[in-house]
Amino acid sequence: MPMAWHKVMEPVHHTHPRCELGKQATGTYQRAGTGGKPLCAVCAELIQLDSDSEEHDSSDDAGPG
Ligand SMILES: [Zn+2]
Repeated sequence: MPMAWHKVMEPVHHTHPRCELGKQATGTYQRAGTGGKPLCAVCAELIQLDSDSEEHDSSDDAGPG
């Protein structure tokens, strides 16, 4: 399970290190864990993109030409 963090003034938590919203967290209001909040939509999208790009199957030998 990836590390989760959240900011006390936000209704969501973050888990993706590249989340722009999560990166804007300033130390004072940042807390470890989910805080019982739902996952940030940006993080969810980044995680989805990551899992998609990992599915590189090299069995595609039916190329054109
Ligand atoms: Zn996020």
